[in-house]
Amino acid sequence: MLSQDLMANPHGPPDAPADAKAVLRLGLIGSGIQASKAPALHEAEAAAQGIRCAYQLLDLDALQAGVERLPDLLADAERRGFAGLNITHPCKQAVIPLLHELSPHAQAIGAVNTIHFYGGRRTGYNTDAWGFEESFRHDMQGASLAAVVQVGAGGAGAATAYALLELGARELRIFDADSGRAEALAASLSECFPDREVRAWRNLCEAVAVGTADGIVNATPMGMAKHPGSAVPAEILHRDLWVADIVYFPRETQLLSAARAAGCRTLDGGGMAVYQAVRAFEIFTGRTADAERMRRHFERIAAG
Ligand code: NAD
Repeated sequence: MLSQDLMANPHGPPDAPADAKAVLRLGLIGSGIQASKAPALHEAEAAAQGIRCAYQLLDLDALQAGVERLPDLLADAERRGFAGLNITHPCKQAVIPLLHELSPHAQAIGAVNTIHFYGGRRTGYNTDAWGFEESFRHDMQGASLAAVVQVGAGGAGAATAYALLELGARELRIFDADSGRAEALAASLSECFPDREVRAWRNLCEAVAVGTADGIVNATPMGMAKHPGSAVPAEILHRDLWVADIVYFPRETQLLSAARAAGCRTLDGGGMAVYQAVRAFEIFTGRTADAERMRRHFERIAAG
């Protein structure tokens, strides 16, 4: 179903430069993005396909600006001939009113991480959901999805929750320190997936109780260098749970270390980071990305 999202581009094939001298201009708008791997990842895949690509970071922190600068930044990128932009925290929802249309998944998830400029129009996509889904399919084959607990109901959490339901989760328990966010996400996903049980939980320990849950996904920023620690207390982990963390900087978060120590099967955030970029590259260029090659690029970039 998610693959149809790419086909939903109403403007026909996107515009990889046909002229070998032309430059594919891309960028990332967000806050605190100086360590982002997106420029290196997209530029390496473009180079491997014989496309000259310049990927620019438009860091709101460096600009000493907030989401109010989005209209200017989008107009400027269009004026400078950008093919598209990636969008990250804190802009994924704020950017929506500035777009002409949304793909069906961006609409359902309520967040945009990729914008394509074409024919004077701006189309918003969400490739985070497909990124998580593809990563899970590759590396968590056979993991039970009967009952899954997700911690974090922000922009990325909306995408992973949607992906878990697309993957077949029967029951999804959403916990967030801001209970209103968990409730809002559960309500909107219940509408999209009326045959599943999607509920907000107020007590994480109960949601993860032994014998009642199969897996847990961290979709909070906890575990990043900027947000050390874990949103999931180590004491509630047990060997019958699988544990996925979407934080990928660092790859080995405190949660994943604790999960491995408890004997859990684990998934780090690297795969989602790669596959969301794979799909974004395809939207920007209209070409098929080599996902395995992008995974290798990512491993090299992450190691360096
Ligand atoms: P966000 O700020 O929109 O949402 C985070 C949510 O987590 C908020 O609702 C907040 O209330 C909740 N939260 C924070 N600490 C918590 C805690 N201790 N317990 C329970 N809830 C807590 O952020 P976001 O855009 O959703 O991004 C979250 C993280 O996802 C990012 O920090 C990033 O590391 C990661 N991410 C990874 C990828 C990837 O490709 N692997 C893609 C996007 C985001």
